[in-house]
Amino acid sequence: MRLILLGAPGAGKGTVAKLLTQLDGSVQISTGDILRGAVQAGTELGRKAEAFMKAGDLVPDDLILGIMEKRLQEPDCAKGFLLDGFPRTIPQAEALKTMLARLGVQLDVVANIEVPREEILNRLTTRRTCVNPQCQAIYNVRSQPPKVEGICDKCGSAVVQRADETEAAISRRLDIYQEKTAPLVAFYRREGFLLTITAPTSEGVVAAIQKQIAG
Ligand code: AMP
Repeated sequence: MRLILLGAPGAGKGTVAKLLTQLDGSVQISTGDILRGAVQAGTELGRKAEAFMKAGDLVPDDLILGIMEKRLQEPDCAKGFLLDGFPRTIPQAEALKTMLARLGVQLDVVANIEVPREEILNRLTTRRTCVNPQCQAIYNVRSQPPKVEGICDKCGSAVVQRADETEAAISRRLDIYQEKTAPLVAFYRREGFLLTITAPTSEGVVAAIQKQIAG
């Protein structure tokens, strides 16, 4: 399947993408994961992106488009892709449209996952993430803690609170979502791809997406 997952930070895009990859081998592409990996590896991309990310700001479009232009042409995308955290601005959505047309690829659906702001704040302040760039497993100190506190069940690396998941940074990320990313809902409604989902669990979101794709 070829999907865009839209939704505020903490709406569950990453969790839904991971569940969907298990269904048909489509690959999850998270620009946030790619950027965090670059920051950890100390690459030029990482050095350019780090300050924006720490502040909860968006990384400039040209850096993101440089990443995606290459990523969408990698062979693992042939089976399908789940875009998680991209596009996030109207210029990114326009550029993606051009990239997909050039690759001769058609989107199946843009799934807009809607979660109340209170629930999002609650989820993000309790979220913890594995620091290993190859793993980046997600936990929740209340609902899904790692078996050993602070240690990833999957790879044994440290599990930490992300630098951009302090209350100040979260609040800024949610404001930026409203200003820069929420307009994509109308954009994709006009394009005829939009499916808005309000299911309270990730499994419910996955079921709604499957139903839509099955037609
Ligand atoms: P995420 O893990 O998707 O919440 O992304 C973490 C951070 O990476 C965001 O707060 C932005 O600073 C940056 N980022 C990720 N994807 C994008 C994007 N498509 N455009 C701009 N910045 C992005």
